[in-house]
Amino acid sequence: MISKFSIISLLVSWVIFIGCTHTKEKNEQQLLLGVKIYDYDGDFKSLFASWEEIGINTVFASVDLLSNSQFKQLSIENNIKTFVILPIFYAPEETTKDSTVYAITNEGKYAEDEWVKFACPSHKEFRQSRINFIREFVKTHNPDVLSLDFIRHFAFWEKIYPNTPIDSIPNSCFDQRCVNAFYKNQNINVDVNVKTPAQIYQWIRSNYWEEWIKWKCDLITSMVNEIVNAAKEVDPEIEINLHAVPWRERDFDGSILKIIGQDFSSLSKHLNYISPMTYAHMVKQDPDWITGVVSELFQETNLKVIPSIQVDKAYLDNKLTNDEFQKNLNAALKSPSRGVIIWNWNKLVANKDKLEIFKSTIQ
Ligand SMILES: [Zn+2]
Repeated sequence: MISKFSIISLLVSWVIFIGCTHTKEKNEQQLLLGVKIYDYDGDFKSLFASWEEIGINTVFASVDLLSNSQFKQLSIENNIKTFVILPIFYAPEETTKDSTVYAITNEGKYAEDEWVKFACPSHKEFRQSRINFIREFVKTHNPDVLSLDFIRHFAFWEKIYPNTPIDSIPNSCFDQRCVNAFYKNQNINVDVNVKTPAQIYQWIRSNYWEEWIKWKCDLITSMVNEIVNAAKEVDPEIEINLHAVPWRERDFDGSILKIIGQDFSSLSKHLNYISPMTYAHMVKQDPDWITGVVSELFQETNLKVIPSIQVDKAYLDNKLTNDEFQKNLNAALKSPSRGVIIWNWNKLVANKDKLEIFKSTIQ
């Protein structure tokens, strides 16, 4: 005989179960509306109060900010999802300290351009130091999502405009570390006259170009895999996002693979989200381009795609108007997008008009 108590317990469990399922579904469907923030001098309580008021539910924050216990605690209390921005092969400190860490371009130069300084992606100790750092960070600060940034080969893509010929973009890495590892991997006995990075590049291009591109992409995908494994040993529930260079498959003659080494289809099995840096104004593109990049990435990966858009001009002199910001924002939110991330908070809060546009669009 079933007691009254059992029936009540069953009903209560059922209601809780349905409630949880609904909450989970709601969370799954909820758009991620957020900002990138790298540093902040003001009061954290008022910062989170502003986000609550606007309707922000996600933050992509720097290691420094997410190392701050008050910042982390407030994110939990305010139900803000935390993505920690982790630069991987961008290595200004390490390359300055030890120039042998640098990646080397096909012209035999250090992989650097202004502030953009890249480490060699085959450098075992460098890779391991990044992985160790991330493992410790997850253990100590427990972010919701790892947001892998600069997880690619060297390029100052922010200043590469439409119709740039691929041959004018530096290709890397052609140091002895990478080149020898590639020869070994492919079982190649190279001509003894092929010595300099420029000669090696030309020789590979003529003889092993497809293999080289695949090997280059594998260096990036394997790094993501190693990071994810290390992080999940500590927190099996942790999610992973990747900052994608906003180049479509055919842009710059396939440079997303040939130069950048981001093979989105292979990368997707390690990821939960992908966030293209669709800074349309910066790279001289229109709002429709944002939707195009998002759609192509979604087709290629089937992940939750969360484009990031810019607030203010960068590297160019012409203004990014309120109207253009509104159009870019609308384009970024079009299906199959799963939200939008503003680059960045400090610039948004400094511009009252754009802040109002953002608020009224997402509410
Ligand atoms: Zn290298």
